[in-house]
Amino acid sequence: MKNWAGNITWTPSEIAYPTSEAAIQQIVLKAANDRKKIRIIGTGHSFTALCQTEEILISLDKFQGLISAEKEKVQATVKAGTKLNYLGELLFKEGMAMENLGDIDVQSIAGTISTGTHGTGKNFGTISTQVIALRLVNGKGEIVDCSETNNRELFKAAQISLGVLGIITQVTLQCIPAYKLALQNRKEPLATVLENLKERNASNRNFEFYWMPYTKTAWTKSSNIVEAAEPDKVNFFNYWSEYVLENYLFKLLCEYATLFPSKNIAVSKITAGSVTDVKKVYYSHKIYATQRMVKFREMEYNVPRAAYKDVFKEVIKTVNSKKFNIHFPIESRFVKGDDILMSPAYGRDSAYIACHVYAKKDCRPYFNALEAIFRNYGGRPHWGKMNTLTPNDIIDLYPEFTTFRKHRAAQDPDKLFISPYLQQLLGVM
Ligand SMILES: Cc1cc2nc3c(=O)[nH]c(=O)nc-3n(C[C@H](O)[C@H](O)[C@H](O)COP(=O)(O)OP(=O)(O)OC[C@H]3O[C@@H](n4cnc5c(N)ncnc54)[C@H](O)[C@@H]3O)c2cc1C
Repeated sequence: MKNWAGNITWTPSEIAYPTSEAAIQQIVLKAANDRKKIRIIGTGHSFTALCQTEEILISLDKFQGLISAEKEKVQATVKAGTKLNYLGELLFKEGMAMENLGDIDVQSIAGTISTGTHGTGKNFGTISTQVIALRLVNGKGEIVDCSETNNRELFKAAQISLGVLGIITQVTLQCIPAYKLALQNRKEPLATVLENLKERNASNRNFEFYWMPYTKTAWTKSSNIVEAAEPDKVNFFNYWSEYVLENYLFKLLCEYATLFPSKNIAVSKITAGSVTDVKKVYYSHKIYATQRMVKFREMEYNVPRAAYKDVFKEVIKTVNSKKFNIHFPIESRFVKGDDILMSPAYGRDSAYIACHVYAKKDCRPYFNALEAIFRNYGGRPHWGKMNTLTPNDIIDLYPEFTTFRKHRAAQDPDKLFISPYLQQLLGVM
């Protein structure tokens, strides 16, 4: 097995594809009886060793679909293995949609929420904040329900839980009525974007931007709800920009810069120069997602929104002065704070800064330098992306970490779901 990025590989002794909750429960009971460990995989899009195990791996790929929909409340309960693109279609048929999403849609809903996956938009929390109830099979083989109103303490732990409380089997989402978004991508001067950041976030439902390293160029993406406009057909310019430029041509540039590292700056400038303006209108579940065919490694940190500009200025200075062997754009997104115990956005409105390195290059010198900057400002990593956190760091960064560990120990006293990686990350005793 390997994850999407190919940086983590493992050989489970057994891979199970249960098709029902009862089958999931049986696997857990049998593993507990045989004193075997279990890890759960969604789509394997995390960059860290969260799914790695030499023992039993469970995939819910054959456990997808809608369980129920309450149209009046605009709520839907779905099987936890449901992939986001399928989920989008299922909800759309019910006249509903997720209020926000990240920039790909191939992850499973359980995998998505378990690492605190997020999109952008200052009024929206991580995707886990759209979950109002969930059910899991814990390490004792018990089926446990929790929600905003029932067993709330556990719910706050389970909303982002890295697969260490149990196997999530179903998720209830608070959706909103289906809507259309008008997306606009533009090339703009970085200085203008930074100067007007507050206004850009205030006047757009979803706003984010990429900075092309070593240049003065930003590529901005804004989207807003439109009522009347008809959905576009995929036109040639959108296709050219989103598929050809962002994937095939970009891959050629990545290969070139890998062979000739001295050309990173030139490649970044070419990338900045080739950004084209895109405008399109479509139903939301088709707008958020993009295709990501070029393999990379990623580190992403959450920093307090109030510190964002200072952090980003340091990032620019460090990148420009150190001339790392990189050229991938650096992404900035904006997310509302929440009250989920292990959420990087816990207790603070946040900005997320993501840095990427082509998979064939060494990412460590660059990630180490930027991680030091993020950590200086109380940065908390995205749980699915590369980081060097230790249990002591987590204690410092997460005021409710001890409560989370209490819930973990209560749900899985025999550490059925604890792998060597999770032991090292969470310091589970
Ligand atoms: C190309 C690319 C683009 C990305 N874009 C974004 C983005 O826009 N925003 C963002 O925030 N992140 C993004 N990510 C990160 C990604 O969303 C997260 O890593 C996410 O967790 C992956 O979902 P998955 O289904 O692949 O889960 P996996 O990586 O397979 O698993 C993630 C965690 O969930 C646990 N898990 C999975 N299923 C269950 C279950 N049923 N019960 C309990 N635990 C479970 C696993 O054990 C693991 O701990 C991106 C990653 C890639 C590779």
